[in-house]
Amino acid sequence: MTQRIGIIGAGIAGLSAAIRLRAQGHQVTVFEANDYVGGKLHAISLNGYRFDLGPSLFTMPQYVDALFELFGENPRDHFNYLKKETVCHYFWEDGSRFNAPADRSAFVQQMSELFGEDPKKIDYFLRRNAKKYNLTNPLFIEQSLHRLSTYTSLKTFKAIAHLPQLDLHKSLYRTLKGYFKNPKSIQFFSRHATYNGSSPYKTPGIMSLIPHLEMHYGTFYPEKGMHEISQSLFRLAQRHGVHFHLGEPVQEILLSKYNKASGLRTAKESYTFDLIVSNMDVVPTYRKLLPHTKAPERTLRQERSSSALIFYWGIRKHFEQLDLHNIFFSEHYREEFNAIFKEKTLHEDPTVYVNITSKHTPEDAPNGCENWFVMINAPGNFNQDWPALIELSRKRITAKLSRLLGEDITCLITVEHVLDPRGIESNTQSYRGALYGAASNSQLAAFLRHPNHRSTLSNVYFCGGSAHPGGGIPLCLQSGKIVSELIAHDRNA
Ligand SMILES: Cc1cc2nc3c(=O)[nH]c(=O)nc-3n(C[C@H](O)[C@H](O)[C@H](O)COP(=O)(O)OP(=O)(O)OC[C@H]3O[C@@H](n4cnc5c(N)ncnc54)[C@H](O)[C@@H]3O)c2cc1C
Repeated sequence: MTQRIGIIGAGIAGLSAAIRLRAQGHQVTVFEANDYVGGKLHAISLNGYRFDLGPSLFTMPQYVDALFELFGENPRDHFNYLKKETVCHYFWEDGSRFNAPADRSAFVQQMSELFGEDPKKIDYFLRRNAKKYNLTNPLFIEQSLHRLSTYTSLKTFKAIAHLPQLDLHKSLYRTLKGYFKNPKSIQFFSRHATYNGSSPYKTPGIMSLIPHLEMHYGTFYPEKGMHEISQSLFRLAQRHGVHFHLGEPVQEILLSKYNKASGLRTAKESYTFDLIVSNMDVVPTYRKLLPHTKAPERTLRQERSSSALIFYWGIRKHFEQLDLHNIFFSEHYREEFNAIFKEKTLHEDPTVYVNITSKHTPEDAPNGCENWFVMINAPGNFNQDWPALIELSRKRITAKLSRLLGEDITCLITVEHVLDPRGIESNTQSYRGALYGAASNSQLAAFLRHPNHRSTLSNVYFCGGSAHPGGGIPLCLQSGKIVSELIAHDRNA
């Protein structure tokens, strides 16, 4: 039966849910607080430079393609991307460089030559990562973790039978120390903890499955930049009759008897719906939109993922040694994560990530120039003295990049825009400006993340980075899928 569904938020997860629910034949209306869609997947233009504001690494493009295919459309008519041959350029303070190739055997050979690791060990490590991914993906990523049916399937039994091999009992860092002897190899693979905003010294070793996504499935770059992901999905949704109310924040989820939602209230008017999907971060969803509902406090208290401080710089020069993705490692990696998660501050020697889309899309910068997205991981917003931290970090980052690139970059910056955890929080309502919802800094994090549905709120569903299965574009797209499947299941039950 056709349902009237109201969706709160047009982030990537809200778009995914909207498209899938529309493909099921429902009447779908999306309310978005901003006057644009995409949430964190947004872009800005400044003096001839274009910058993607949020995500820069694109993996699992097949999850985007699948949304076009739901309507019998060829994704290539609407959204295109290229596969990267080189994943990322890595730089260390002692002058070591590693341009990590996407090709598996080239990667193993170059890594063993550069870091003196046994190629058989690297190969074995990568095979173990693939196994971890294949065992846990059907359990943790493809379905709700909070339905009984999940635990009675054969795939779940298989994953449970292999629990000891998943390295859940030790940190990613300790897991890596079991494989590699060179601290640079360990740092290289530790970095993947930041792909979900966690610390390699706390997140469990199962997270070594993340490099498998890069090594096996590859990394991609959307033609016209990351923003094109949200834009092409917006156009797809509109083509097929999803209604959007942009610039209309939802102020309340209206509840009738027994915590059953009857609709949504905005400043303009109240709307009646049969079902609600919230793509808003779960913390403000309860605190602001459901103030009279008993909130799952234990879930909401979970430690949040890291946030970020980003400088968007127009640079009036080409740097041949740089690629789309570039990492300049800290020499004090453990202290850097301590600063972020324990001391809630920025370390004096941060790992710096530089993303340059003009390497592939020259129109993103004026002739002879490059658009640099320069990011360091940061703690959430706890009302620190951000102006002082930003000024200090700018000095540290420009000094580090100038040192490692052998050229003073401060005089090359022609345009600047800055985004810090406060801005991420206010632009998208992400609690404390977390990039990925709750952190994965414990063994139980996956189980403590907010479910996509709670029986106490019978017709309210949750998708997005703060709900199961977590943050990052692929998982958010999957959360929209899980919600649409739960709704289909619950309506037929
Ligand atoms: C700087 C940065 C770098 C990142 N890098 C990567 C990366 O390289 N790769 C990757 O995969 N991921 C990356 N991420 C994470 C990724 O962007 C997010 O996990 C994902 O985009 C979150 O999508 P979402 O749908 O959960 O939420 P959001 O994008 O936060 O969208 C939520 C939407 O809900 C709207 N909303 C909130 N409250 C209301 C309300 N009351 N009424 C109406 N609308 C409301 C907001 O305005 C927003 O548009 C990065 C994020 C940031 C910020």
